[in-house]
Amino acid sequence: MSTRYTESRIAQAALDQRALLGPFKHSAILDVQAFLERNHAIQVRHEDGWDDRISAVMIRRAHPDRTVIGVNASHPLARRNFSLAHELGHWLLHRSGAFPPGRDLRERQADLFAVELLLPERLLRSWCEAYRIDDPARLARRLCLSTSVLRRRFEELGIAARGR
Ligand SMILES: [Zn+2]
Repeated sequence: MSTRYTESRIAQAALDQRALLGPFKHSAILDVQAFLERNHAIQVRHEDGWDDRISAVMIRRAHPDRTVIGVNASHPLARRNFSLAHELGHWLLHRSGAFPPGRDLRERQADLFAVELLLPERLLRSWCEAYRIDDPARLARRLCLSTSVLRRRFEELGIAARGR
């Protein structure tokens, strides 16, 4: 993969990841740790005693098959899910490291990847309809994600939300 990513390429990378789910590619990914372990043999370690500001860290990536991601054990599942999807973004987009983009850009790209993986527009709209939910907090609980992530995504996509 090139080190220059457009938003549409990142969205496509996320779609490619969803394709790994086969018949479940239109379903919510409720357990990102299991997704990483099953599809990429990435080991996830829950780390105690971390500063609250640290969400997750790729601990070892000397070999692509032996990546270990540490995640802050004190964070709720909803937050850990997003953090792990973000790290998967780094792993897929920034692993080669030939001409790494600046740190801020890398972080934005990993966040964008996580959002496209967990809340792709078409699926999010279909879930809202299927569950008859237009309250980000309720949908967040259903999807094992944090309310703030859902609120931001609703805003981005112009989905009218109740319960603010
Ligand atoms: Zn990051």
